[in-house]
Amino acid sequence: MVNKKPEWLIRRLPEKESLNKMEEMLVSLSLNTVCQEAKCPNIGECFKNKTATFMILGDICTRQCKFCAVTKGEPTHPDPAEPKNVAKAVKKLGLKHTVITSVTRDDLEDGGAEHFVHTIKAVRKYNPKTSIEVLVPDFDGKENSIQKVIDAKPEIINHNLETVAALYSVVRPQAQYLRSLELLQRVKTKDSSILTKTGIMLGLGEKEEEVMGLVEDLVKIQCDILTFGQYLRPTKEHLPVQEYVTPEKFQHYKEEAEKRGIKFVESGPFVRSSYNAAKGFDTLQNQ
Ligand code: SF4
Ligand code: SF4
Repeated sequence: MVNKKPEWLIRRLPEKESLNKMEEMLVSLSLNTVCQEAKCPNIGECFKNKTATFMILGDICTRQCKFCAVTKGEPTHPDPAEPKNVAKAVKKLGLKHTVITSVTRDDLEDGGAEHFVHTIKAVRKYNPKTSIEVLVPDFDGKENSIQKVIDAKPEIINHNLETVAALYSVVRPQAQYLRSLELLQRVKTKDSSILTKTGIMLGLGEKEEEVMGLVEDLVKIQCDILTFGQYLRPTKEHLPVQEYVTPEKFQHYKEEAEKRGIKFVESGPFVRSSYNAAKGFDTLQNQ
């Protein structure tokens, strides 16, 4: 466990004006973002650049991941107006690429897959030129659910592995490493035109050989995009940080993952799964 943050993790406070403007727009459309709910350190930069990751299906999660700041408990009924409101927000912000995620809804029969589909369709209807990236939960392993999302043909399907297999029981106790890997594999097998993407946090106690094992697993299932970021403890109730990974080590992981065959890798202390997401899409589109 480490205590003091190193200098490379010190960030300036976000500008109030851009935060307020974005928050007003989100409130007016009754929308949530993972930027706010997960206390993302990039919120100042992203909101200033008028980007955000919309979090659909409410703001209460049925899972208990030990690293995540999202509220846990009994969720509310999905808002039928939400898909259209996300589409309106994408239009208002003029987004070329949008990222849509959700809490995990183990209480719903299809895990919320249909709601994802409605949202993808609404965003596409009102913003035909915007590329869509969905960051989905594991749908409790339900094949029909992920199939519905595949059939809606978003440009990217992202599902975060979050950490190495050895740390799942501590970090993601209700998830399974292989189940998450299978979801990503299923997407590629069913529709190879959809880009697949995943991300993990570093600094939770993972060993380098475990990270490389995960990279090898991703190469085998032809995962296109991978992100590495530093785990930051949201509150004292969450898992402690075991290591502040240096920027040089992040660069090392990027180079190793690319060398092994991942097409696009973003790696750095402040990288999050949705950070600068348009860049990965643009790069692979132009290859
Ligand atoms: Fe939101 Fe992603 Fe930016 Fe964080 S990195 S503020 S989650 S868009
Ligand atoms: Fe957070 Fe996702 Fe885990 Fe829910 S499933 S607690 S939103 S990381």
